[in-house]
Amino acid sequence: MNGKFRAGILGATGVVGQRFVQLLETHPQFEVTALAASDRSQGKTYAEACVWRLPGEMPDAVKSIVVQPPAPPLDCDFVFSSLPGEIATDAEENFARAGSPVISNSSSHRMGADVPLLIPEVNPDHVALIDVQRSKRNYDRGFIATNPNCSAIVIVMALAPLHARFGVASCVVTTMQALSGAGYPGVASLDATDNVIPFIRGEEEKIESETLKLLGRFNGGAIDDATIKLSAQCNRVNVSDGHMAAIRVRLSQPASSDQIREALTSFRSLPQELKLHSAPPKPTVVRAEDDRPQPRLDRDAGNGMSVTVGRIAPDNVFDYRFVALGHNTIRGAAGAAILNAELLVARGYLG
Ligand code: NAP
Repeated sequence: MNGKFRAGILGATGVVGQRFVQLLETHPQFEVTALAASDRSQGKTYAEACVWRLPGEMPDAVKSIVVQPPAPPLDCDFVFSSLPGEIATDAEENFARAGSPVISNSSSHRMGADVPLLIPEVNPDHVALIDVQRSKRNYDRGFIATNPNCSAIVIVMALAPLHARFGVASCVVTTMQALSGAGYPGVASLDATDNVIPFIRGEEEKIESETLKLLGRFNGGAIDDATIKLSAQCNRVNVSDGHMAAIRVRLSQPASSDQIREALTSFRSLPQELKLHSAPPKPTVVRAEDDRPQPRLDRDAGNGMSVTVGRIAPDNVFDYRFVALGHNTIRGAAGAAILNAELLVARGYLG
């Protein structure tokens, strides 16, 4: 025993699953002891089942772990889930019912009334929904906690400091989303090359609903959604990693450009205060250059955990406009779930 929590990963061979494996390789609190994927991979070692597609080598510690079905029991204290939505619905509930905490990146349970949808910098108090969930569903040690959609998280990280200071009354968002957001092999190369695809199934609805839950208030039993008018349009662009969002906001209170910049630059929250391992020193990085953020240059800011905001300017139709960018498989997926797990340890839910 080395005192670390033993983590399982569901969907361990996929784009997000591999990020989990990579980010957990040297994690001080968690070690990977179980891996699960589809029947294409089950019964093989991870090294046999998984074609490693991230820079660097597959970590030695996971190579000989035999891939299991995504069903309890697994040899671990809790699971991270990056299963496809249709598989996650039942699989995650089965783990929670069997007493295993599930820290999920899948969309299936995000909007459940008793399921916390967390960004630790934005709504850490929403973890208390776990108590409501356990009592309502008669779960003992198990629960399901989720992180948001990979574009919603980028958008909300940029909106949260403005909403807290000035109130966001309405917001229009246009995303430019990376190919890796579609998993592997994702978008066919002949569709992606020399092209922009103005449709990602379910994405606009997820951004519009999840944002209001994330910025909502916990009333002791449920979340009261934020009352922001929000419109989202999503595009798939020919970029490997990094989701970008062009955002326009109308504010409830007047604010100068300098106040907007200051609110975003000074944004710090509980993860920074608690010095959680994956928390970036600056959750939002503000760039002053005319041509930033850019996916290739800015997606790795804060080890992929910071959201970079630039092009802040007054807008002729709304009050302000700006561009936000974040790494979709780190801050938008595996890194987000790991930061959630660190918050849950700090709050005693994984103990
Ligand atoms: P992916 O690359 O297609 O990986 C899917 C994973 O799920 C693989 O490990 C696959 O195992 C496993 N799987 C597929 N069908 C299964 C089945 N019937 N039973 C058990 N396991 C099965 O997808 P991904 O991009 O990693 O996305 C995973 C989840 O994360 C999705 O819910 C997605 O919406 C969400 N998400 C993705 C991103 C992103 O940027 N990619 C961001 C946020 C959230 P095999 O290898 O054995 O087939």
